[in-house]
Amino acid sequence: MQEKMHLAIVGGGASGLIAAITASKICKQTKKITIFEGALRVGRKLLATGNGRCNLTNIHASAKHYHGDTRFIEAILRTYPPQRVIQYFEELGLLCKEEAEGRIYPYSLQSATVLDVLRFNAEELQVEMICDCPIHKIQSQDGKFLLENHQQQIFIADKVILATGGKASPQLGSAENGYILAKQLGHTVTPLYPALTILRTPPEYVKALKGMRSHVTATLKCNGKAIRHEKGEVQFTEQGLSGICMFQFSRHVAHSIANKQKITVLLDFMPEYSVSAIVNHLNHAVNLFPHLPAPEILKGFINKKIGEAVVKTAVPHSKEILAKQLTKSDFKSIANAVKQFSFPCIGVADWKQAQVTAGGVSLSQLNSSLESKIHKGLYFSGELLNIDGDCGGYNLNWAWISGITAGKAAAKSLCHKDKARVPTT
Ligand SMILES: Cc1cc2nc3c(=O)[nH]c(=O)nc-3n(C[C@H](O)[C@H](O)[C@H](O)COP(=O)(O)OP(=O)(O)OC[C@H]3O[C@@H](n4cnc5c(N)ncnc54)[C@H](O)[C@@H]3O)c2cc1C
Repeated sequence: MQEKMHLAIVGGGASGLIAAITASKICKQTKKITIFEGALRVGRKLLATGNGRCNLTNIHASAKHYHGDTRFIEAILRTYPPQRVIQYFEELGLLCKEEAEGRIYPYSLQSATVLDVLRFNAEELQVEMICDCPIHKIQSQDGKFLLENHQQQIFIADKVILATGGKASPQLGSAENGYILAKQLGHTVTPLYPALTILRTPPEYVKALKGMRSHVTATLKCNGKAIRHEKGEVQFTEQGLSGICMFQFSRHVAHSIANKQKITVLLDFMPEYSVSAIVNHLNHAVNLFPHLPAPEILKGFINKKIGEAVVKTAVPHSKEILAKQLTKSDFKSIANAVKQFSFPCIGVADWKQAQVTAGGVSLSQLNSSLESKIHKGLYFSGELLNIDGDCGGYNLNWAWISGITAGKAAAKSLCHKDKARVPTT
């Protein structure tokens, strides 16, 4: 027997759960709404977000924090600004608090509570959640959708929301089959890149600095042109450069390297100081410590190991001389290197280390309700789409607001059908 439902939501992550809740509320529980989740439980990735604290939105959410195909983001953010998202969660029974840089967390600081609140609401609203049921195939037939799971069971739905997430962090259950489903239905998927991840540099550039951290202003250069600036802490790893400010660059790096562009990251280790101020401090340091090995002259300024690497790069023969042998031109070279220490990038870390996917289902084949222009009644939401956000709560924010948008549109069209069927007297 083929099971029938009004709305099938494929994927029980952040976006699918909120889409189901929104739709069920609008339909006042008069419609059968089913979530198909491939994993044993819904919301597994949510538990890992924000280091287990779930940075669920950001008070500064605006179009400039989103990348990819952002054609609908302004309109959707206008309808669901971050204050509305926070209020929506309060209505669902979750209290939130604001931390640094406008990041919003659950008041409990536990991601498990966000998932609990979503699950409890879905259960109360009679949303059916079928877990361990990956959908492998979807077909559109006579205005309905036939969904087939891994055991060749068929489900028939009036409307479908695809909310299968992205490709990042496969160890948390991400898979590529959402993209395959979209393609089966005639939708275009743009190239996929790992984003919010480590930038890879040639190993010799970071080997000596592994484990070091420093507060910097960083500039991302593509083919010699500065395209983005960030402030924050950079961490040196075996593979390259890590830290939130490097994560923010990663989508551009992955995309540019794939398109054979030359990428360089410049780090300013003393953003508050000008080159001439650093030269003055170097003069003073050399007067105080003339017999210090030259590579150690930045010891009183910045991280010791980073300082040595900077001096050795700026003045290659510095290993053989004392501080008092540094010339005025060496001071200038060192100060310049402190302000613009350059790292070539050769790529980004693999999918396992990425937090999100850049690229995805093209928005050009959707309308502003995130409904397919190819198949009426088919909607998309979340990371599956070709839109990705900065680090700071912007990706979950997109998962919520796109899920609400798709859930609302699907429910309205289901309820609209009922109204049309009511006979007029
Ligand atoms: C370690 C980590 C930390 C993060 N921290 C943050 C953070 O603090 N703040 C932030 O904004 N963002 C964060 N993100 C990003 C954020 O988690 C995602 O962008 C967001 O979860 C996307 O929501 P989604 O519903 O689109 O996809 P998901 O949450 O990935 O949910 C998709 C669901 O679909 C299921 N599925 C897939 N294919 C099928 C199928 N064929 N059939 C049935 N089910 C299927 C999957 O099992 C999964 O449960 C983090 C990501 C990672 C990996």
